[in-house]
Amino acid sequence: MQLDDSLAPKGRFVRRYSALPEGVYARVAPTPVSSPGWLHFNVDLAREIGLVPEEWSGPQGLEVLAGNRPVSTGEPIAMAYAGHQFGQWVPQLGDGRAIQIAEVLDAAGRVHGLQLKGAGTTPFSRQGDGRAALGPVLREYLLSEAMAGLGVPTTRALAAVTTGEAVQRQTPEPGAILARVARGFVRVGTFEYFAARGQDQTVREIADLVRSETGIEEAENANPYRGWFERVIAAQADLISRWMSIGFIHGVMNTDNMSVYGETIDYGPCAFMDAFDPNRVFSSIDRQGRYAYQQQPSIGLWNLTRLGESVLSLLGDSTEEAVEWAQGALGRYADQFHRAYDEAFAKKLGFGEANEITRSLVADLLAIMAAQGADFTRTFRDLTPLCTAAREGTAGTLPHFGDAAALMPWAERWQSALYAEGKSSSEPEALMDSVNPRYIPRNHRVQQAIDDCAQRGDLSSFESLLKATTHPFLDNPEFMALANPPEAHEVVRETFCGT
Ligand code: AMP
Ligand code: MG
Repeated sequence: MQLDDSLAPKGRFVRRYSALPEGVYARVAPTPVSSPGWLHFNVDLAREIGLVPEEWSGPQGLEVLAGNRPVSTGEPIAMAYAGHQFGQWVPQLGDGRAIQIAEVLDAAGRVHGLQLKGAGTTPFSRQGDGRAALGPVLREYLLSEAMAGLGVPTTRALAAVTTGEAVQRQTPEPGAILARVARGFVRVGTFEYFAARGQDQTVREIADLVRSETGIEEAENANPYRGWFERVIAAQADLISRWMSIGFIHGVMNTDNMSVYGETIDYGPCAFMDAFDPNRVFSSIDRQGRYAYQQQPSIGLWNLTRLGESVLSLLGDSTEEAVEWAQGALGRYADQFHRAYDEAFAKKLGFGEANEITRSLVADLLAIMAAQGADFTRTFRDLTPLCTAAREGTAGTLPHFGDAAALMPWAERWQSALYAEGKSSSEPEALMDSVNPRYIPRNHRVQQAIDDCAQRGDLSSFESLLKATTHPFLDNPEFMALANPPEAHEVVRETFCGT
């Protein structure tokens, strides 16, 4: 039986990245594992990309997703890339524990890379074992699917499986594999790798591929790479503004962890903030706070500048011309970011668009929240009932705000701005509830889900958290407890890569 015929009759496996010349990747197959088992399978995502869920969630699918059985027309590869890690140049990184097993063409003609993270060693593994532990796999599953639920561009989780083998970390831990899906896995560091080796032709070939997949064929201007580079900048500005608007901290924004498709990628020690602090850092390895919450916009530009340097040969006829043009394009990032940020936060306060007034309301609210250590997610969500109360002429309060009285002068200013034109509609409330999530994967809940699974094989906390956070804007009485900030003893202060 042809595996791919039975597992993807509606989809098609194609060769795009894996058709690029050797050297761009290493051909390497997953290392089989002793005893695979299911943790979770994402039926909706399978369907979305054109895989038949009934087949992929069966015994054959399990074998494929554990790396025990090849996709016959797929081409397993580990990609080469370099990167700047915490600002330091590292000439060779690459997929050390991730193997792309296939590229899937969906019904709309879009290609999706399917990668197994934790599938065994590759030529890029260095000292690593090529494996992943259960904790980080469940963590990435929850965080990436919650991001998708929030409407933020991200790599997706198709499945998580156990391997039946232990991996050695600080202590032995159960091994697992995450099957993840992305528009592509090309990173800023991918371009850096080839540019550093003087392989301009390879840089061009990769750029051509990415460009064709993102719909940038021939731009109006004569140089199509310029249109593409502008698109990458705009997508990154937009992505980071969205992270900011939901209190998300990526944690390791190294250039090898930044996708040129504008998707959130490589969920390591990332976290959603509970108590708001603009300088918040979670990652245990980020001692200098390089990737703190409020550093993220400027790190985005730093990384894009490394991309610009790497693709410079494509951006102009001479180096001078290319540099001048690229500097102009990068110079527009700040404006693009601020526009997207202001708009996202204006909506969080119920305003259709941003202006001077919304900007100052947002800045003042964030300052009060920081001073009070107010819960980021809860504060914004609780503005809706406050607004309803004001509209109905009743007394409102903010149950999770600490000293709510300190906020009241701000709240009055906000409400008079909101209803300045004599509006009395509930429109702003509906807008706020569509952008301010009730549920995020809070750190203590993620940890609980991992612990329950690792210690007792109990996936119920994982399932509940996944269900709540993939529909983050819907109040669900079943999951109300998941919306609460952590109690003092539950607060998670630090997160780990776990690699
Ligand atoms: P990350 O910190 O996850 O972005 O990974 C940085 C680099 O280390 C990448 O090249 C990874 O492929 C590699 N790496 C991380 N964990 C492992 C592992 N367990 N085995 C092999 N390589 C790894
Ligand atoms: Mg990485």
